[in-house]
Amino acid sequence: MSIWRASVLTLYPAAFPGPLDLSIAGRARASEIWALETLDIRAFSGNRRGSVDDTPAGGGAGMVLRADVAARAVAAARGDDGRDIRPLIYPSPRGAPLTQSRVREWAKGPGLIVLCGRFEGLDERAIAFCAMEEVSLGDFVLAGGEIAAMAMIEATIRLLPGATGNVASPGEESFEAGLLEYPHYTRPRVWEGMAIPEPLLSGDHARIAAWRQAQAEDITRARRPDLWAAHAGDSREGAEKTSPRRPKGTRGGTKAILRESGLKDKVNTNFPDAPMAQEAGRSDQHEPD
Ligand code: SAH
Repeated sequence: MSIWRASVLTLYPAAFPGPLDLSIAGRARASEIWALETLDIRAFSGNRRGSVDDTPAGGGAGMVLRADVAARAVAAARGDDGRDIRPLIYPSPRGAPLTQSRVREWAKGPGLIVLCGRFEGLDERAIAFCAMEEVSLGDFVLAGGEIAAMAMIEATIRLLPGATGNVASPGEESFEAGLLEYPHYTRPRVWEGMAIPEPLLSGDHARIAAWRQAQAEDITRARRPDLWAAHAGDSREGAEKTSPRRPKGTRGGTKAILRESGLKDKVNTNFPDAPMAQEAGRSDQHEPD
């Protein structure tokens, strides 16, 4: 498979790779699972002063990134043979909010081109001319697209085959089953008077899976009614799925949950009685993530 390629067009190339060279993303880049190219938008100003912005038509505060400058930068990233089919993203508060399913699509594709906005934003004509897709990080306003580009790229990279040592983990996380994730615990068994919930120490795979499923459902219902409504709708459509109304701690349907979640072989039943030596050795084996 060919390498996943990110091209970032920015007025602040020094911001990259930044956090994208740490941890999972950094190791994956070193292993050539993905590559990063940074293009300085200022190099495409077309004038000696390197000016890339101008005052807004119609008046008002701030400056606007020029359409011709942005289009030249995009053309440089794409090449002109028409063979670069990577999605072209303009991070923008006006875009559709980023979702994990979108990130999964990106991970299956050849890479991304991201044009980072600054100032008041980008001349609308560049968005149309280059067929940019606007994607938002959420309902708030950043000072520039760089952090949004990093978030998009980092979320995608960790899904690339081989990027995380633990192949199983991305599939069990928040949003993957339309739910937020269940809570995690690790040693010690009691900390500040709070004990690890008993089902997790039971060694009973089915009970653990059922507890985690119930927790994920409770947390989603309480914190994200929007996700919960979508999940409940999906469950009604799919006859195979367990009922989202199943109360916490119920043991019904646990075989199905285990089969679906693939947790069967991953539950560490040795956990409650693990010897101290193993505990001490863990920090050495433990990946930074
Ligand atoms: N005037 C614009 C905001 C410009 S902020 C507006 O009101 O919509 C400058 C740049 O930061 C934008 O061009 C965009 O690239 C980036 N940005 C700001 N908020 C963002 C968000 N929520 N998601 C993604 N990118 C964002």
